[in-house]
Amino acid sequence: MISKILIANRGEIAVRIIRAAKELGIETVLVHSTADKESLGVRLADQSVCIGPPPSTDSYLFYQNIISAAEGLKADAIHPGYGFLAENPLFAEACRAMKIKFIGPRSMVIRNMGDKAKAKALMKESGVPVVPGSDGIIESIAETHDIIKKIGFPIIIKPSAGGGGKGMRIVYRQDELEKAYNFASNEAQQAFGDSRVYIEKYIGNPKHIEVQILGDRHGNVVHLFERDCSIQRRHQKLLEEAPSPTVDKETREKMGEIAIRAAKSVGYDSAGTIEFLYDRETKKFYFMEMNTRIQVEHPVSEEITGIDLIKYQIRIANEEELDIKQEDIIRRGCAIECRINAEDPENNFNPSPGEITQLIVPGGPGIRVDSGVYPGYKIPPFYDSMAAKLIAWGNNRREAVERMKRALDEFHIEGIKTTISFHKKVLKNKEFLSGQYTTDFVSKFFN
Ligand code: ADP
Repeated sequence: MISKILIANRGEIAVRIIRAAKELGIETVLVHSTADKESLGVRLADQSVCIGPPPSTDSYLFYQNIISAAEGLKADAIHPGYGFLAENPLFAEACRAMKIKFIGPRSMVIRNMGDKAKAKALMKESGVPVVPGSDGIIESIAETHDIIKKIGFPIIIKPSAGGGGKGMRIVYRQDELEKAYNFASNEAQQAFGDSRVYIEKYIGNPKHIEVQILGDRHGNVVHLFERDCSIQRRHQKLLEEAPSPTVDKETREKMGEIAIRAAKSVGYDSAGTIEFLYDRETKKFYFMEMNTRIQVEHPVSEEITGIDLIKYQIRIANEEELDIKQEDIIRRGCAIECRINAEDPENNFNPSPGEITQLIVPGGPGIRVDSGVYPGYKIPPFYDSMAAKLIAWGNNRREAVERMKRALDEFHIEGIKTTISFHKKVLKNKEFLSGQYTTDFVSKFFN
């Protein structure tokens, strides 16, 4: 039985994990860099331990140190949150070697799904629809010719080790191909230390729809419906909602079934997400990638199902069998999440770290705030810029939207710039309100 979890993360997700662990009666230890010694998580955890200086390579990514801390403090499990070590199979393996439970899937699944070209090939074999393109890595431009003949322009070149929207390049014409290929592989090398790329058809104006799943170590897999994450800037999500306002009942059922098939085909045994691109016109959807971790936007799925995903992650790592069946998972209402980032939307979304001099957090019916900040807290400049997540639930989409607008008006953060003003504009936008928006929404209305 897990009795003490070490949390190898920071910010709001560290707080979220502490809350789940406490409700399960499990002790928590939070690791932190010197830049995070005043964090909210450090205040809320039962114990905390400094693991290094601010740069994440010397602290949050330095996993040998983190495992030593877990051993020294007698933690029997590690939750990696998202980012940092969450999708590092070496870390998951190192935990296992030290007999510490890694709260996430088996390392083999992390490894296979982390290689996006390989993941696509595995999914295709299992009968999951994938975006048409290369069957795996492209070693040279010459190799692209036959594929492009088949799928036609535009295409997108994507790093196989990809994440965070980095290194992707859209190509509309043959004469752009060489430059784009070199750019994508160079950027992939810089960002991920891995220059391998693959290509796929560039789907015009798709929706990004993803299905939340939960699998256990006894072969059971359920899904928690879909999230619509099409409000993105430079391929990074800013606002998410569940369910998707444009996915109909039949498509929802199909997506859920396919997501379960995808998860079962790799023996998935934790919380995870299957990402699809969805073409509104043909109602076709294509597997894009699988994220083998908890995601930032998980609260919208929790709000519409009443299921605590982090608690389930912990219980699954504890070898427990899922005590819910698909038919027990009932969808109720709609939920929207706005990412409140310390960024200046008026100035190209530049990071805006610094001290929060005043803070008024919204509340009331249907409002949830998952945050890592408090008045007087200084957001350090070393990490990602997310300060809080504002989640609004309503009996229907209209009520969720009105609640979100009301909560955004209540939310006051002084001392730093935030994305609150951006979200207020999105919530008033006719295309957003129609639910028909696609991944080009932000570039169309805000650039
Ligand atoms: P990352 O792992 O870097 O986040 P993804 O594969 O999840 O990359 O893609 C991120 C976003 O890029 C998608 O949500 C979508 O907006 C866009 N995208 C990716 N592949 C395609 C494609 N084939 N056609 C159109 N848009 C795409």
